[in-house]
Amino acid sequence: MSSMHRQTKSDADDRIAVSARDVTMDFGADLPAVDNASFDVEKGTFLTILGPSGSGKTTLLRMIAGFQPPTSGVITIGGKPVDAAPPHRRSVGMVFQKLALFPHMTAAENVAFPLKMRRTDPSLIPDKVEQFLSLVKLDGYGERSPHELSGGQQQRVAIARALVFEPDLLLLDEPLAALDRKLREEMQLEFRRIQKELGVTTINVTHDQREALVVSDDIIVMNNGVIQQQSKPVGLYRSPNNLFVASFIGIST
Ligand code: ADP
Repeated sequence: MSSMHRQTKSDADDRIAVSARDVTMDFGADLPAVDNASFDVEKGTFLTILGPSGSGKTTLLRMIAGFQPPTSGVITIGGKPVDAAPPHRRSVGMVFQKLALFPHMTAAENVAFPLKMRRTDPSLIPDKVEQFLSLVKLDGYGERSPHELSGGQQQRVAIARALVFEPDLLLLDEPLAALDRKLREEMQLEFRRIQKELGVTTINVTHDQREALVVSDDIIVMNNGVIQQQSKPVGLYRSPNNLFVASFIGIST
């Protein structure tokens, strides 16, 4: 057998964007919010953390974002442990339902903000802003204030702002939850189109099975803080690990 085709450990490590090993978050309740979670996210993929309300999804995402250190275990991004450095010092973009646009800034100023924080050469900023407003199909909307934009348009600006500094990782925490169903489905497909176009590794949190199955390369199903299964969407249907996964996936299909 040719050794050329043998996979070395570093080859495998190079393909991993985010890794969690034995990660637990215990707030002192009866059950830990996240219980001994271990998983890998491959570079360039769209991974969804799916589970009912209270299953630990947001807690897991907040630990990946570096907002909350785990009680035990280690999370690495690009091979480096997540530390307490502020998010703008790391290469992570975020779109959260509660991370709204700055209301006193125009759309363009909102998108320019992360570049200014990172001390990007000011002469390069207008072109970058235009490029990313165009990516989210908002050419010509740069001078509008957030209140002059629809809910879907505001989320597009938030996506442009999260991506303009070309992060290695994009974190989405139910950013579309406030939108009506039709707009939500349209925006889900938009997220997916943009993610593919840029190839940015994305971790998405949702309780919506249909969304997870439509947009994801890979899904982690959680219940009571415990990862029940990590699989491609089709694998959850064909070979669910347990009754919880089978019934949770089956509910809305
Ligand atoms: P999900 O995002 O799946 O709805 P969460 O991660 O928000 O779940 O919550 C998981 C569990 O952890 C819940 O029981 C919740 O009440 C608890 N929890 C979350 N954040 C805190 C906190 N800051 N302090 C205490 N308990 C928390």
